Amino acid sequence: MKRVLITGAAGFLGSHLCERFLKEGMYVIGMDNLITGDMRNIEHLMPDPNFEFNHHDVTKFVHVPGELDYILHFASPASPIDYLKIPIQTLKVGAMGTHNLLGLARVKKARFIIASTSEVYGDPLVHPQTEEYWGHVNPIGPRGCYDEAKRYQEAITMAYHRYHELETRIVRIFNTYGPRMRLNDGRVLPAFIGQALRGEDITVFGDGSQTRSFCYVDDLVEGIFRLLMSDYSLPVNIGNPGEITIGQFAEEIIKLTGTTQKVVYKPLPQDDPKQRQPDITKAREILGWEPKVSREEGLRITYDYFRNLPTERLYEESNHRGF
Ligand code: NAD
Ligand code: UDP
Repeated sequence: MKRVLITGAAGFLGSHLCERFLKEGMYVIGMDNLITGDMRNIEHLMPDPNFEFNHHDVTKFVHVPGELDYILHFASPASPIDYLKIPIQTLKVGAMGTHNLLGLARVKKARFIIASTSEVYGDPLVHPQTEEYWGHVNPIGPRGCYDEAKRYQEAITMAYHRYHELETRIVRIFNTYGPRMRLNDGRVLPAFIGQALRGEDITVFGDGSQTRSFCYVDDLVEGIFRLLMSDYSLPVNIGNPGEITIGQFAEEIIKLTGTTQKVVYKPLPQDDPKQRQPDITKAREILGWEPKVSREEGLRITYDYFRNLPTERLYEESNHRGF
């Protein structure tokens, strides 16, 4: 039986990855310090004899008994309001956390994959973004703690690959959505759906002309799985190329939820990227992957998840712990 370590297991993407690797018949060790995660995302996995949870901060030395075949390093605050509140932890998990896990991968002779991000392209001057683009990042701006941590994470991963010949993979993830996003994490989809469900106005930042391209979580997980199983060690974009302005996205959510609230405009956060769309030629050619779930279908499933949550969860405060 293959054994896999998934960091960030109690988060949005980590919880879906744990499910997927269990379905593949692997033994899954989920690791998380719960700083932005939530045990409710994985409580349904706890009775599974092939799953174990290890409460641990990966910026501290990581010890895992037994063999490991794969390590997926997904631990990191991921939403702008999270990493603005906890910038040092964000830098540490990208830098020291990645270093610790690379060391573990070396000892265990495990294949290693990191969750990189479209944010390595910053506010991009090339559109759509190909993997060859080096990016346009403000290192000292408010998003710098996240973007530069992820760029360092890519650099140290490539160094271990070149110097220690470790088997490594880098997935550059574009905006992904689906069930188990945290309603109060400030990302645009839970923000808009949460506002609609609470009967609040929908807050569009700036004039709403900035674009994003939203990928449904099941499509992303399939792309990650294929990349990990491939022999390709350079970065691969995984995302849905369907680009939309945030203003149009607000209209879609208003239609989906039937809310009668209005759109209100708030200041655009500093360094908010103006456009973002993945070029997925590499994923298509190397992995035979492309997204299958339309935004209409993905949003319907996600909305059903949020509206079936107990009402009190709509009003929960941010659950940051450990600092
Ligand atoms: P999330 O906040 O839901 O999950 C991150 C998890 O990591 C949380 O459970 C958190 O508690 C855990 N964590 C953070 N620091 C830790 C530490 N020091 N030790 C152990 N656990 C720690 O975020 P997510 O959306 O699931 O993102 C997961 C990964 O994917 C992140 O690395 C993120 O940068 C990357 N990513 C996500 C997206 C997206 O659209 N969701 C896009 C690009 C990249
Ligand atoms: N956004 C918005 N209203 C909100 C939350 C976010 O208009 O209540 C905008 C935000 O400024 C950005 C886009 O939606 O342009 C996506 O933001 P998110 O935080 O989801 O992801 P990221 O900026 O990291 O792509």
